Amino acid sequence: MSEDYRPMWADLGLDLKAHDALLGVLGNAYQDIFLSQKERPEGMGYFDFVMSEVHGLRIKELLDEKAAGRKIVGCYCVFVPEELVLAANATLVGLCAGADFATDAVERLLPRNTCALIKSTFGFKLGKVCPYLESADMVVGENTCDGKKKAYETLDHLVDNLFVMDMPQAKSAQGKSLLKAEYYRFKSALEDLTGVAVTVQSLRQAIETVNAKRAAIHRLSALRKADPAPISGLDALLANQVFLYDNPARFTDAVNKICDELEVRVENKMGVSAARKPRILVSGCPQAVPNWKLPFIVERSGAVIVGEESCVGERGTRNLTDASGESVDEMMEAITDRYFKVDCAIFTPNPDRLAHIEEMAAAYKADGVIHYGLQFCQPYLMEAIPVEKALEEKNIPCLRIETDYSNEDAGQLKTRVEAFIEQLR
Ligand code: SF4
Ligand code: SF4
Repeated sequence: MSEDYRPMWADLGLDLKAHDALLGVLGNAYQDIFLSQKERPEGMGYFDFVMSEVHGLRIKELLDEKAAGRKIVGCYCVFVPEELVLAANATLVGLCAGADFATDAVERLLPRNTCALIKSTFGFKLGKVCPYLESADMVVGENTCDGKKKAYETLDHLVDNLFVMDMPQAKSAQGKSLLKAEYYRFKSALEDLTGVAVTVQSLRQAIETVNAKRAAIHRLSALRKADPAPISGLDALLANQVFLYDNPARFTDAVNKICDELEVRVENKMGVSAARKPRILVSGCPQAVPNWKLPFIVERSGAVIVGEESCVGERGTRNLTDASGESVDEMMEAITDRYFKVDCAIFTPNPDRLAHIEEMAAAYKADGVIHYGLQFCQPYLMEAIPVEKALEEKNIPCLRIETDYSNEDAGQLKTRVEAFIEQLR
């Protein structure tokens, strides 16, 4: 990093020693996992830069925005509509953490058998190592799974301005009304926070900004349908991970530039390797930064990941929001319609997700599906069983993985993944 950001981190209240250690681990992991890959698109240089400055320049930008009067809103879930946040003159950043931190302190507040994602959320707060969380003027929680729902009661004592949205558990008319009512309550809370009312113009512009970002990532996904795959799963995952951290317009441009490059690769039938690699679809729990364990193992074992049926992936980004509404209420309806289609495993029953996995496996010409479940995540681990059954009925091989953020099971995972890939050759 070129600039000395330490005074900025100290002002944010970070534990500089712990934070240095985190950045050190992150930098080494990034080098080993991403920079060591061959045949990377040149456009990935942008994401390398973003990652090298993820706690530096991007935080400085957010603090500059704050100094100019804009508010920062942090979130943990793709049910939080970025459209509303932008329309109220605020910036949305993802807080979902993908690494274990301050585990002892976390386990004094949460049961040990809590999923790694929730523990990580607490670890980054208790360990004082997340500049995004410390920059946020509002943190949004959502009553999705039971773990998050109860954990927010405790998180409420740790962060200053936690806004918790209630979430429907069924895709019924009542469920949709609840979501819509909660989005109206969220809009009011945002307007109170920023002092800026959401208008027809600001909401339409925000919808268009977020749609452009989604359209760019859809374009990237579509290019991964080509055989050979023009980009590694790791690089494509990284773009999906940066989706909620970066400035939206800049992110859209960067992804479109990579797509221009990939289109040429696809035309020339250039892939990430000369030999054909088995194609894998990963489905399941979100993989937040810097949780790269599974894709690293899969791709180092000789396969290529061609899609993610995940909130950090297509479940989170598919479907645009209709921007044609002529009033705020019409656009609120369109926002509710769009987000109500997210087929998170908290919904019961959840047949749309099973259908979407099958659709993706066909569209991305996947040879097999790896279902990625975090240990203690009841919604996804339970749903993994019907997912596997549905895929088996279509003769699509499926490997169910249950793991956490530690590296303790890396050897065992590698053995299972290698055997699965061998079966697909
Ligand atoms: S898996 Fe469900 S709870 Fe988790 S980020 Fe996605 S929508 Fe939210
Ligand atoms: S991974 Fe599962 S248990 Fe953890 S927060 Fe997400 S839905 Fe809840």
